Amino acid sequence: MRKIVILGAAESGIGTAILAQKQGWDVFVSDMGVIKDHYKEQLDSHHIQWEEGGHTEARILDAETTVKSPGIPDTAPIIRKLINQGTPILSELEFAQPYSHGKTICITGSNGKTTTTSLIYYIMKQWGVDVGLAGNIGHSYALQVAEEDHDWYVLEISSFQLDNMFKFRADIAVLMNITPDHLDRYEFNLQNYVDSKMRIIQNQTDKDIFVFWQQDEHIENELHKRAEGYRPKPTPSSQPVREGKPTLCPFKDSDFESLNLTFSQMGQHNKRNALAAFLATKKAGAPDNLIRQCLKDFPGVEHRLERVIERDGVLYINDSKATNVDACFVALQAMDRPTILIVGGRDKGNDYSVLYDIVKEKCAGLVYLGADNEKLHQSFDHLGLPVADTHSMKDCVEACMRMAKAGDVVLLSPCCASFDLFKNMEDRGEQFKSLVRTCNI
Ligand code: ADP
Repeated sequence: MRKIVILGAAESGIGTAILAQKQGWDVFVSDMGVIKDHYKEQLDSHHIQWEEGGHTEARILDAETTVKSPGIPDTAPIIRKLINQGTPILSELEFAQPYSHGKTICITGSNGKTTTTSLIYYIMKQWGVDVGLAGNIGHSYALQVAEEDHDWYVLEISSFQLDNMFKFRADIAVLMNITPDHLDRYEFNLQNYVDSKMRIIQNQTDKDIFVFWQQDEHIENELHKRAEGYRPKPTPSSQPVREGKPTLCPFKDSDFESLNLTFSQMGQHNKRNALAAFLATKKAGAPDNLIRQCLKDFPGVEHRLERVIERDGVLYINDSKATNVDACFVALQAMDRPTILIVGGRDKGNDYSVLYDIVKEKCAGLVYLGADNEKLHQSFDHLGLPVADTHSMKDCVEACMRMAKAGDVVLLSPCCASFDLFKNMEDRGEQFKSLVRTCNI
């Protein structure tokens, strides 16, 4: 029996293990950390062997192939050993695709992946096709392939997943943008990160479609470099298996107006997300009228410029997902009312000066929310706006309520990670939503 080892036992790992077993592989799952109980139950119910709290090296190095969770970096000792001895290390999507009959719409980019993926899925659902949602969101692709293979999949794909994809082919690839991110995983070399994102079109043939934002300098550059076939350079472990180049479907911001689109979500960046979804679903065959209606009706994605409530003439918006300065910048761009901005949290080396002009233009006040707000004081106090210093969501919401006047917006778009005061960005957004609905001062 062919042996496969799955490294990392969360959503994608468990799905891969179940699919591999169904396909006749001898499966072993290994996780350095603690495996959640419900995942253990799933493995046990399928009689799949697993270990936690460490790796049994000999067993792992004996496998014919491995699938690793995108969270495990190449610098992990066990991964180094596998690389050294030449064992293939695949992503879940790479492993599972050959077992699926479904077509794929694959979305990647530095920003806008989840919104665009959710929107495309929404449109495909409304169209009535048999479609699954997977990748970074929804349920495991591999599990769906194993248990209820769909005709279509909408897949949100991170660069970490792309790094371990070699023969995977996207029927429709969507690349939103490329801005520096996660460079610690790419030897602090932007080109490595760009190359990773461009892998979304590797193996695309002349039957496939590539939708991308034309105004992104990196994408345009890369396409010029690959003018002969719009194909990423093969890396030693990545030998393209198909020939031919995809049909290019570029879009630019002004297309939104010229196509006469209306989108339920605010902000220039969301127009790009709408355009990408419009083109991708049109190429998939969805009717024009249906797509346009879906763009109007799309309910949005939680924690991303989410309108929560209008109280006493003040609109509260939850953009807890904005964990970096760029995300806060685009959120402020979308504001058309005087804004009380909530910023703060765990700072990842932010340079706030890029926000100064837009904060001066859009903001009526600033509320700092973090365990340590010192850097925020140093960065923003000199702009001369009213500021409040808070260390819990309750104090923060009360400060916003005191500061805001009828006609204002209170925007939680914190530029920072949430782990100093909250479990995660979802927890931060939930607390905000609950308090702005219930809090009275
Ligand atoms: P991702 O899944 O790539 O992180 P999301 O759809 O979750 O993207 O959006 C995250 C944040 O990125 C949003 O809150 C918004 O500030 C910003 N954003 C969304 N779409 C775009 C876009 N097309 N271009 C630039 N920034 C965007």
